Amino acid sequence: MATQEEIDFIRRLPKAELHVHIEGTLEPELMFKLAERNKIEIPYKSVEEVRAAYQFSNLQDFLDIYYAGAGILQKEQGFYDLAAEYFEHAAADGVVDSRIFFDPQTHTDRGISYDAVIQGLVRAAHDAAEKFDITFSYVHSFLRHLTEEAAFESLAMAEPYLDDKDFYRIVGVGLDSSEVGNPPKKFARVIAKAVEMDLEENSIHAAEEGPPKYVRQALKILKPKKADRKSKTLKPIIIDHGNRAMEDPALVASLREDGVVLTVCPLSNLKLRVVTDISKHPIRKMLDAGLKATINSDDPAYFGGYIVDNFVVLLDADEIDLRDCVTLARNSIEASNMGHNRKMHYLDVLQEMEDSLPLRPVAGAGGQAPRLQS
Ligand SMILES: [Zn+2]
Repeated sequence: MATQEEIDFIRRLPKAELHVHIEGTLEPELMFKLAERNKIEIPYKSVEEVRAAYQFSNLQDFLDIYYAGAGILQKEQGFYDLAAEYFEHAAADGVVDSRIFFDPQTHTDRGISYDAVIQGLVRAAHDAAEKFDITFSYVHSFLRHLTEEAAFESLAMAEPYLDDKDFYRIVGVGLDSSEVGNPPKKFARVIAKAVEMDLEENSIHAAEEGPPKYVRQALKILKPKKADRKSKTLKPIIIDHGNRAMEDPALVASLREDGVVLTVCPLSNLKLRVVTDISKHPIRKMLDAGLKATINSDDPAYFGGYIVDNFVVLLDADEIDLRDCVTLARNSIEASNMGHNRKMHYLDVLQEMEDSLPLRPVAGAGGQAPRLQS
């Protein structure tokens, strides 16, 4: 088990969280509070009952409670409270930059205005930025079980908020919800349209459950065209999850070559049975293959932990050591869109923290991987 000293070390590592769904940060206490405030009936009598309902056993059970939870978000203030609570958790876990997905269709399809959603989320983010010195950006996600046409309509709703980049910080689009049967290419045109609208920091959930070929499709969609590559500062290509890419060696080679960032979510993978056991998690193979893996919480209220818990579950299983934790944090800071000076500062902090660790034993000479005893 990780010692308290090790957990504290991980908490102190400056980290960027690149993959978190704001609707997935709804804790049972807030769900109950908002249901009371908005006078919405939910089939639970207490916070404990809501918490018990969060113990789902498969993807469909999860999606059912996830959408039911999102249904109690009615007003701007609810979205504010949701995001404010997330930032509290993130800051306590050493997150210095958050790239947050939100699902407008989950709300606008039940009559909530896009404005209420974005104003609440963004106001909370600015307050958190001031309070915790955390930077943020938002990614407008499309529900991939719906049509591409619906995604186009949703994207149009974002348009009035794109001019004020400094305030709203909507930087890209993403694809989430049920992956299998809804391949990336289904949304190729709407993502191209987003790029035309200057939304360039896009990413696609791929090969979480779906086949490696979904990653190939996603790369084709996300790779900047040759002309753009020359004229603009290159942003990293981001694939959300990417677990099953490891089944395809040629694909792994091209992910390494292009420096593609993978936003990996261990507790999510465990809870949704993407891996049957944490010792079977692909993170070790990703790191050994030199891929730019990062650690993220996905839907922390539902999957049993925020970002530090996601590092700790891997450390506990001896899948990673503390030097790997530094590498994973470094990958996240490098991939984030924070300003140059801020980035350099945190990379220096990470270097100092890495230098403070015991060295890895030489292969064959025995000894323990870098761990801290308390
Ligand atoms: Zn996700």
